[in-house]
Amino acid sequence: MLYQSTRNKNLHLSPAEAITQGISSDGGLFVPSKVPEIELLDFYALSHMCYSELSTMILSLYLDGFNKGELDYCTEGAYNTDNFDSESIFELAHLYEGRYMLELWHGPTCAFKDMALQILPYLLTVSVQKLGIDKKVVILVATSGDTGKAALEGFKDVDGTSIMVFYPDNGVSAMQKLQMTTQEGSNVSVCAINGNFDDAQTGVKKIFTDEEVIKKLDENGMMFSSANSINWGRLVPQIVYYVGTYCKLFSDEEIKLGEEINFCVPTGNFGNILAAYYAKCMGVPIGKLICASNSNNVLTDFIHTGVYDRNRKFYTTISPSMDILISSNIERLLFLLSGGDDEYIRGLYKDLSETGRFEVTDEIKQKLSEIFYAGYCTDEETKAEIKNVFDKYSYTMDTHTAVASKVYNDYVKATGDTRKTVIVSTASPYKFSASVLDALGSDADGSDEFEMVKLLEEKCGVPAPESLASIKDKTVRFTKTVAPDKMSEAVLDFLF
Ligand SMILES: *Cc1c(COP(=O)(O)O)cnc(C)c1O
Repeated sequence: MLYQSTRNKNLHLSPAEAITQGISSDGGLFVPSKVPEIELLDFYALSHMCYSELSTMILSLYLDGFNKGELDYCTEGAYNTDNFDSESIFELAHLYEGRYMLELWHGPTCAFKDMALQILPYLLTVSVQKLGIDKKVVILVATSGDTGKAALEGFKDVDGTSIMVFYPDNGVSAMQKLQMTTQEGSNVSVCAINGNFDDAQTGVKKIFTDEEVIKKLDENGMMFSSANSINWGRLVPQIVYYVGTYCKLFSDEEIKLGEEINFCVPTGNFGNILAAYYAKCMGVPIGKLICASNSNNVLTDFIHTGVYDRNRKFYTTISPSMDILISSNIERLLFLLSGGDDEYIRGLYKDLSETGRFEVTDEIKQKLSEIFYAGYCTDEETKAEIKNVFDKYSYTMDTHTAVASKVYNDYVKATGDTRKTVIVSTASPYKFSASVLDALGSDADGSDEFEMVKLLEEKCGVPAPESLASIKDKTVRFTKTVAPDKMSEAVLDFLF
């Protein structure tokens, strides 16, 4: 199977090339030339596999040229109990009849990004080797919080790689900052910048294309690569847990083979929910995909009207990983829904860059409304939902998961759909203790991050993940703050 660019169908790359390059030079994203299928009867065998076996199986359908030994090396290295505090890698909590929480945050950084970023370093280093490139891979990341830490944990001490993360000094939570500045590993660096996330992102993009820096790296046997969510190597591992969830519900006798289930996904860059759509296209019996947003509801409007319009106010919310106005992976979805019409996609993205908006055809609007339901909720509604679910079911959700939970309630009211539904839970509540305590009506005024974790533990009676609790005793290793225009110097300082 070869990979094409969403903006150029005539490009044919091997999976290793697509993963190494990350993004196509025409600005498009890499997509597989066809979607592989799973037969319904195969679910019997799949439901007996452990997570790394299932991953090897699903990845093998997408990554031609990777043999079983290589894939096992990647999946066993990523999905094991050294990295995850759950034997089964994800957990499925049963809230009440027909409603489940898919906990994707049992990895080292307590957010769902670990599901992909634990394996990406393996996929990337194997890809680079396959291409016969004998260079050290240097990963640069701009982060608003979760991605940076998850990438650091994924790449730390991986042979043949170095990683540097930039974060906005005043743009991440206290816990997120500590998670990054105490990062261990011999090939990692972390740097704050005096600016916001956009400054960090723009700075990183500039370094990636800075001829002088690239030359210097090349002379020293190094090359840049990216770990951000447009890399296919981050999307494909996310398909696995949708297949895995179906298998688990089936083997637990919660559903019959072939019975359709819905997924409700708290969405930002549209990567997680797109992986669910790929799973549906592969033959996993999925009914509706419910796309949940916070007040940055550009996707809600898009799915309702077919008009994508980023010209709107940007809100800073209590679910910061979903504060996003350009959801990159929509481009992959539109490529699929247009039947692979690269010329059409080029036109849409030209409109987006020139006017900040585009409108899709009636045919695509129709498909969007068949596949998806979309809704959003405010911070106040998010907090009320955390409290409501806690009071009723003694289950504590983080702020992102709560957005999905609320939107699902609205979906059921609007449609009366009684199919069983899985709400995708993307972060541990302890990662956002301040907002969760506030939602639960606890007084945490004057407490620091660690006291808040303790307070939340007392309140909900579930121990905090070891990786968060133990940060208290770790040494801060990275204290540097630079101006956005000094980022390339910081990179060179780190590397040479
Ligand atoms: C990244 C993230 C999301 C959004 O996921 P996308 O794949 O970007 O749509 C939701 N919740 C949390 C906690 C995240 O870290």
